Amino acid sequence: MKEKLKNRAWIEINLNNLEHNINEIKKIISSKTEIMAVVKADAYGHGMIEVSKKLNEIGINTFAVATLEEGINLRKNNIRGNILILGFTNFSDLNYVIEYDLIQTIVDYNYSEKIKELQLEGKLKCHIKINTGMNRIGERYDDFNKLFKIYENNRLNILGTFSHLCIADSEKIEDIKFSKMQIKRFNECIRILEKKGYNTGALHLQSSYGTINYVGLNYNYVRMGILMYGINSSKDSYILNNLNLKPVLSVKARITSIREIETDDSVSYGRTYIAKEKRRIATLGIGYADGIPRNLSNKNMIVSIKGRYAKIIGRICMDQMIIDITNFKNIKIGDIVTLIGKDKKISAEEVSNKANTISNELLCRLGSRLKRVVI
Ligand SMILES: *Cc1c(COP(=O)(O)O)cnc(C)c1O
Repeated sequence: MKEKLKNRAWIEINLNNLEHNINEIKKIISSKTEIMAVVKADAYGHGMIEVSKKLNEIGINTFAVATLEEGINLRKNNIRGNILILGFTNFSDLNYVIEYDLIQTIVDYNYSEKIKELQLEGKLKCHIKINTGMNRIGERYDDFNKLFKIYENNRLNILGTFSHLCIADSEKIEDIKFSKMQIKRFNECIRILEKKGYNTGALHLQSSYGTINYVGLNYNYVRMGILMYGINSSKDSYILNNLNLKPVLSVKARITSIREIETDDSVSYGRTYIAKEKRRIATLGIGYADGIPRNLSNKNMIVSIKGRYAKIIGRICMDQMIIDITNFKNIKIGDIVTLIGKDKKISAEEVSNKANTISNELLCRLGSRLKRVVI
């Protein structure tokens, strides 16, 4: 409570909702499939250490991050279990992967060949990435000359093989066809590797939307990001399984100043808002430097205060923004305003839609200046 009073604006994290979401997701995956919790980008703005500690507590033992630094950060904070780095790590840094007991993604054949030239202290724990159609990273699903050489590389300790679906959140017939083709390519690739006697290790293909829209695949892991945080990527994401997910995060700020303005008075930079009559307005101590997108200015965007809605007026500034409170009584300095929360009208899906982006981007941009309060 004391900490909250000091903050002009903050992110509230509800770890009970995180646990609830994990239990919901478990309902639709097979008992032999484990959740690999994707906690990259500071757990999508939720705070990777707080989130990962909670996940460890409730029995999640496998994590995915994007970078080596993120993996080291987890280890330095005593996070237990497997930690997979999903992206590229510089060759000169691969010794840290071993030192901190992390798992590196082999991004393609060339990457695995280069590792043969390095003086690593021991074998490199890794998962092999297969490119089944996204064409971002991974060795091609059908280039067996190269794939066989990767699996024969004796500098690697291969613990898993995975791929990534690129359009699993769409309900268009042709997109579903594409996802099914990716699944087929992955399965066929694995079948041939195993027939040759190679150990492919733990298999995983689905992230959030792959998991809920393509059930029954029963790989060893599902990689859970956005849905674990209780939020859909966008308002119109296609969801086959209606899980009862609850958002883990909300963004709050305090009212710092209240004033009356007269007819024809303007508000904020650029004078984009001009009062048509006498209004009462309030300033909030939060702005785009805190991750509130500036392009939400003048978009009929609302915030929630005391269970009602107030409109954002004028341009959102770097550290402050202004709302119209003409129709409110009893609002005072220090009152708390919710900008993103569980209320549908100010949900991450709604806010990101108005900002022309997806909630993933909105969330992972929040973290840099806002303190997190765990409740
Ligand atoms: C970020 C990422 C995920 C998590 O995706 P969500 O849609 O948030 O679940 C899974 N796999 C890979 C390879 C990723 O880069």
